[in-house]
Amino acid sequence: MIPFSKLSFWERSVYLDGIDFAIIGAGIVGMSTALHLRKRFPSAKIVVLERGYLPTGASTKNAGFACFGSPTELRDDLKTMSEQVVWDTVAMRMEGLQELMALIDPVDMSYEPCGSWDLISSEEELLPDAFIAYLNEKVKGISGKENTYAIDHLKLEQSKMKGFQAAYHNRLEGAIHTGKLIQALHRSCLNEGIHIFFDMEVLSFEATENGVLLQTKMGELTTAKLLVCTNAFAHSYMADVRPARAQVLITKPISNLSIHGTFHMEGGYYYFRNIDNRMLFGGGRNLDFDGETTTEFGTSKLIQEKLLHYLRVNILPSTSFEVDYSWSGIMAVGSEKKPIIHKTNKNIAFGVRMGGMGLAIGASVGKELSKIIS
Ligand SMILES: Cc1cc2nc3c(=O)[nH]c(=O)nc-3n(C[C@H](O)[C@H](O)[C@H](O)COP(=O)(O)OP(=O)(O)OC[C@H]3O[C@@H](n4cnc5c(N)ncnc54)[C@H](O)[C@@H]3O)c2cc1C
Repeated sequence: MIPFSKLSFWERSVYLDGIDFAIIGAGIVGMSTALHLRKRFPSAKIVVLERGYLPTGASTKNAGFACFGSPTELRDDLKTMSEQVVWDTVAMRMEGLQELMALIDPVDMSYEPCGSWDLISSEEELLPDAFIAYLNEKVKGISGKENTYAIDHLKLEQSKMKGFQAAYHNRLEGAIHTGKLIQALHRSCLNEGIHIFFDMEVLSFEATENGVLLQTKMGELTTAKLLVCTNAFAHSYMADVRPARAQVLITKPISNLSIHGTFHMEGGYYYFRNIDNRMLFGGGRNLDFDGETTTEFGTSKLIQEKLLHYLRVNILPSTSFEVDYSWSGIMAVGSEKKPIIHKTNKNIAFGVRMGGMGLAIGASVGKELSKIIS
């Protein structure tokens, strides 16, 4: 590939000269930010710089759960976070999902309002009825909707799973097709005249008097404003951003698969769903937090074997299946379960550390970023 210094007048004038907003990272946050900036600045020159030939972090790797909190996740959060923060986070996730649906037509991401089920194993304690009532009251205060959570006495039997004693239904959660979402965001950016440069790693950047100077693998670029949407890969700039790898496997298609909807277990550390009659199953990071604190894509025997064990023993105990392949994505976590949306200079802002909630909050984070930088 040729460097910027060898580009023609035409190429420079259309793509490189006079950039108003450069965004690093073409994940859900980067592309949402670009689209929100376009709404605010109809004639601005906006470019997105992505180092992969596809977005290469978490946005094309996740499980596609449009979720805001399972009962066991909320129970665990209430033990480590203040009540206010827990419910602010739920509100942020619910509002973020609405923002996402406003940005991208739900049909274009194959959104299914299928609900979710939080499974309690035979060894765990059931959640008290009063706790479910409390969750319902709190969610009603945010969404106005009654009876979001309820114990579902039929689901386990219908799904033919074993080793669980209860399933708590959340009727407001759903599922999307992650690949289609990213494709739709990409298409919207192109329709809005936003340039996305793939295979364009940003090596460094520094503030100048009137803007920002970027060093990329193809040469120097200047922009009036810079938005850094690199999530886990911002760990070299931000002390409280820690990479957190998450592994997933998918089976080959299974005939007569009796599992429908999205499922969580163990406080959200495991999750599975039916996609195109395959089981997509992810999680297990809690087995090896240290080993999974990495930006290296890959899988580990420990976690893949645990996923396989759960599939064989608990989730598909009476169904023969074959694992087709596995993958991983890199999330970002830190000392708090909330994103960093922060201006480090009058012309530079970061929108990073989405945790396991970036699908839910990514579009809102993009909106917020577009406001703080301008
Ligand atoms: C297995 C898994 C399951 C998940 N399940 C869910 C779920 O069900 N629901 C949910 O809400 N969230 C889920 N998440 C989390 C969610 O996917 C992330 O929070 C979200 O995708 C983060 O989006 P992002 O745009 O901030 O980051 P990313 O998608 O990581 O995008 C950052 C981009 O920046 C690019 N980049 C990095 N450095 C540079 C550089 N120097 N130059 C140029 N480009 C660069 C990367 O290539 C990448 O494309 C899951 C994540 C994983 C991995």
